[in-house]
Amino acid sequence: MKLLITGGAGFIGSALIRHLINHTDHTVLNVDKLTYAGNLQSLASVADNPRYQFSQSDICDKDKMRALFADFAPDAVMHLAAESHVDRSITGSQDFIQTNIIGTYTLLEAARQYFNELDDDKKRHFRFHHISTDEVFGDLHGTDDLFTESTPYAPSSPYSASKASSDHLVRAWHRTYGLPVLITNCSNNYGSHHFPEKLIPLMILNALNGKPLPVYGDGKQIRDWLYVDDHARALYTVLTKGKIGETYNIGGHNEQKNIDVVHKICELLEELAPNKPAGVAQYKDLITHVKDRAGHDVRYAIDAGKIERELGWRPAETFETGLRKTVLWYLNNQDWVQNVQSGEYQNWLNKQYGDK
Ligand code: NAD
Repeated sequence: MKLLITGGAGFIGSALIRHLINHTDHTVLNVDKLTYAGNLQSLASVADNPRYQFSQSDICDKDKMRALFADFAPDAVMHLAAESHVDRSITGSQDFIQTNIIGTYTLLEAARQYFNELDDDKKRHFRFHHISTDEVFGDLHGTDDLFTESTPYAPSSPYSASKASSDHLVRAWHRTYGLPVLITNCSNNYGSHHFPEKLIPLMILNALNGKPLPVYGDGKQIRDWLYVDDHARALYTVLTKGKIGETYNIGGHNEQKNIDVVHKICELLEELAPNKPAGVAQYKDLITHVKDRAGHDVRYAIDAGKIERELGWRPAETFETGLRKTVLWYLNNQDWVQNVQSGEYQNWLNKQYGDK
């Protein structure tokens, strides 16, 4: 297959492309604008493979998207390009509306036009796979409820509202125009090559640098964590086995309070990086509670039963094994870390948490 993947230079997209190049014989065209979150260094291990191509393009560019479809002639699209960070969506929502809503619309229209011109055999095989988040469901306040595929949408943040909007567009393009779509909604991902504005890499890198570990509010918010390589396998499973028009939730069976995640990272670092920065007796002494995020969701938890029952996918990592691999990756890949901690990122971090 020829797969057009948007957002392939991001955290999940790069894991997906490494999976596809290393474990399948498909050809990949990575379509990525290279925003602050896009990093081609995450694809260094596959960049020279003849089955990998890259186009630096904005999914909002209608003409460019049409030309890419015409030239590459994909058998499927996997759409991951997005503005993805909730905190950034609170301080500035415009890019989220533009990329997540207008960009998805532009891509859907390019795909629709391309699809309409395919012959019947190619039409039967074509898929448009939209990758989304469990944050479209809002949050859970009880301890036992889980998000299922039929949970009503109730997004809380500009980010999740823009993703919810994109999910609705994708469903409408299926229902109205017959575009063969698949949608997946997954929980929080973690793993290697994760941009250090997100909780887990932020905590690992701040701890290693002797900086405060900023925990929102009391830290009791609960997230379900999915190891990114398990997610990449799940996406490929849905693409190849999923039923057209269906939605699949993907989760890791790993519900954790944010504060517990931070403590686990500190414990792992005590073991794996015992030479602490000057003045730090224990990593956990760096934990600092900061003002809670506006509209902060209390608990997310996914029922991933459908993909497990119907498509036979299961996560391979527990939180303990995945977190250990993640911490080790950051310890062993300091050059990647130094490159992404550019001026732009540092400025944002200082604005968010103060210049510490
Ligand atoms: P990311 O921010 O790491 O990467 C996003 C990528 O999209 C970057 O490479 C960026 O350059 C690219 N991009 C942004 N705007 C673009 C545009 N206009 N045109 C082309 N490329 C553009 O995001 P991620 O964490 O890898 O998430 C990938 C997808 O998965 C997103 O759609 C996100 O909503 C969804 N998702 C992520 C998580 C998570 O925990 N990371 C959880 C659920 C769902």
